[in-house]
Amino acid sequence: MKKAVETCYVCGAPKTSKEHVPPKSWFAKSYRQNLMTVPSCAIHNESNSSDVEYVGFILAAATTGKGSNELWSGAIKRNVDRRRGPFATVMSQTTTVQVGRDETGEVSITPQRFVKVLAAIGYGLYYYQKEVPWKGRWRIVLPDPDDPGAHVQRLSGLVWIEEDSPNHECFQWWSNNDQGTPRYKLKFYGELDLYIEGRIPEVPSE
Ligand SMILES: [Zn+2]
Repeated sequence: MKKAVETCYVCGAPKTSKEHVPPKSWFAKSYRQNLMTVPSCAIHNESNSSDVEYVGFILAAATTGKGSNELWSGAIKRNVDRRRGPFATVMSQTTTVQVGRDETGEVSITPQRFVKVLAAIGYGLYYYQKEVPWKGRWRIVLPDPDDPGAHVQRLSGLVWIEEDSPNHECFQWWSNNDQGTPRYKLKFYGELDLYIEGRIPEVPSE
C-alpha cells in the first residue's frame, strides 16, 4: 500500500518526517494510540507550531467531553501554568470562541490561525485517503450556534460517510465527495462540528 517514495501531504516534496492528523497534541495522553499520520516535508510539519497549540486550546476550551477534560487537566494546564501564551489570549475573549462561519473569518479570534491549522488538516485527511496532495484550497466552516449560516445549512444536509478514527473521544470525521469536491465534517471531543470543503483553484495550475 505504501508508495516507493513517500512525499509531503501538502507540496509533494520528499518526506522528511510525518505529521499527525489531527495534531497529536490535541489528543489527551490516554488517547494517543494508533493516531493517523501522513508523510511531511520540514516546512509543512506543523505539529509543534504555536498555531496548532492555539487552535487546539480553543477547541478544548469550547467543549466539555472526556477527551477535552483530560487535556484541560493535563497538557494544556501545564502549558498555561508555564507561560501565558494562547491561554491569556483566549480567556480575554472567551465570548467569541464559538462565533464564526466561513473561510473569510467571521471568527473574532485571529481567524487566520484557525484557517491555517484546519486547512492543514484538510490536506492531511485528503492525503490520508488518496495518497496524493489536494491541489486546491479549502473553505473552513466553523460552528456558530446563534446563526448557522448558509454554508452550515448546505453542508449539514449532505450525505456523510463516517470514516475510521482511532479515538472517538477526541476526534471523529466524515467525508463527502460529491462532484469530485472533497469535504470533511470533523467532530472534536464529541461535540464540535466543523466543516472543511475543497475549493478548486480559480486559475488552473497547469
Ligand atoms: Zn511540504
